[in-house]
Amino acid sequence: MIDTKKIIIKNPATGEIIQEVDVDSRTNIEKAISSGHSAFKTWKNTDAHRRSELMKNWSTIIQDNKQELAKLMTLESGKPINESKGEVDYATSYIDWYAEEAKRVYGRTIPANSDSKKIIVSKEAVGMVAAITPWNFPAAMMTRKAAPALAAGCTFIVKPAEETPLTTLKLIEYAHEAGIPENVIQCVNGPGKEIGNTFTQSDLIRKITFTGSTPVGKQLIKDSADSVKHVSMELGGHAPMIIAKDADIDLAVEQTIASKFRNAGQTCICVNRVLVDESIVEEFSSKLKLEVEKLNVGNGLDENIQVGPVINKKGFDKILSQIEDAVNKGAEILSGNKTISDDQDGYYFVHPTILKNVAKNADIMQEETFGPVIPITTFSSIDEALEIANSTPFGLAAYFFTNDYRIGNYIHGNLEFGIIGWNDGAPSAAHAPFGGMKESGLGREGGIEGIEPYLETKYLSIGNLK
Ligand code: NAD
Repeated sequence: MIDTKKIIIKNPATGEIIQEVDVDSRTNIEKAISSGHSAFKTWKNTDAHRRSELMKNWSTIIQDNKQELAKLMTLESGKPINESKGEVDYATSYIDWYAEEAKRVYGRTIPANSDSKKIIVSKEAVGMVAAITPWNFPAAMMTRKAAPALAAGCTFIVKPAEETPLTTLKLIEYAHEAGIPENVIQCVNGPGKEIGNTFTQSDLIRKITFTGSTPVGKQLIKDSADSVKHVSMELGGHAPMIIAKDADIDLAVEQTIASKFRNAGQTCICVNRVLVDESIVEEFSSKLKLEVEKLNVGNGLDENIQVGPVINKKGFDKILSQIEDAVNKGAEILSGNKTISDDQDGYYFVHPTILKNVAKNADIMQEETFGPVIPITTFSSIDEALEIANSTPFGLAAYFFTNDYRIGNYIHGNLEFGIIGWNDGAPSAAHAPFGGMKESGLGREGGIEGIEPYLETKYLSIGNLK
């Protein structure tokens, strides 16, 4: 909840108020931008080995405080505590990776077309970076942006989601404790639209990096055009999972559950549409139902819970309306579709739901769900499966299950997605390039690719050497 002065952070599992955070005024935000900008020259020129050391200190302090940070994350986001601990590891893996990459920002020399010339290419930090992050991974979405930015020599300011600013504030505190100067990494809080406008209108900010919904991402791209800022966008997904007739069905069931119910299905790469060969759909669906019904739903602080609440009423209403629309268009509810909610306190649980025989024109087959719902539809040929898979504007993650190399190779070659899991429902890793095609985004985070968007290329031509 947010008003002009305060953000009230509530536990999405109970509705209890956890803490209040001040909303930053425009003047405060402009001051922060200006101090980040003035720190840029010094940080950029701090040698890469020193920047790397400070980043490693940051990672160590986060790990030293893993239990406390994970608990805070569960309290403000609702995700199960074991997932929060996993997210702390995932968040530091980006800092660790880019602490090393900081030392590998290489230039090159180019043979000149005259023996009195020399051409040298170098890479330099783009400048001050502003990040806007979502609530679904409050730690990892921040470090995935901050780590390559700091490694490249950029200064960094972040606006976390209104639902989950506390984890980010802790991460910033740990960064300062680690010795990273206060004006090199900063956080401001408040409503997305106003802070987004302040960021895009500032000439001192040279890059915007965003993770969140596609409409907001498109707006930020348009607004960044005025001062031709660099942009990196990690936007919505609508991941298909293709299960071919020769697939290992038990593995496909296990991986569907792992991919779909992490963070109650509020993950941009989680499977959103399960496409099953019609000859195995009965076996797959009945095995899936058996396993899904074993999942425990409840307050994520309890170690035995696998599925927590969804983040808020807007998310809850969207999920229920997608289920209703699918049923109106002929889908059968195979399990779940139970909810527990309290509008007064503001907590919302959706039990894992499986929908069978979902029509291809149902909303759930076209739009991101962000909830614990599995819609199943069938195909009769791999080409039909590919056509369904590629039929939305999204191109973030896709999955397929087959043990036939030729089929797998064909599916891989024809999916229009940036991240692909073959017999694998959990492909994310700091050392691999994460990002989407089509309307799912611009740029990549992670891997050797992930530092490039924070670097400019500069070339020097030296003449008259003789
Ligand atoms: P959102 O895009 O509105 O919010 C994400 C971040 O953007 C938050 O920090 C928010 O304050 C900020 N924001 C909101 N409006 C802004 C604006 N006009 N300018 C600049 N920043 C702005 O997402 P949401 O409302 O929290 O969730 C809605 C849907 O978005 C979800 O159901 C899901 O489909 C999608 N989503 C995707 C991801 C992802 O990881 N790709 C993350 C969150 C949400």
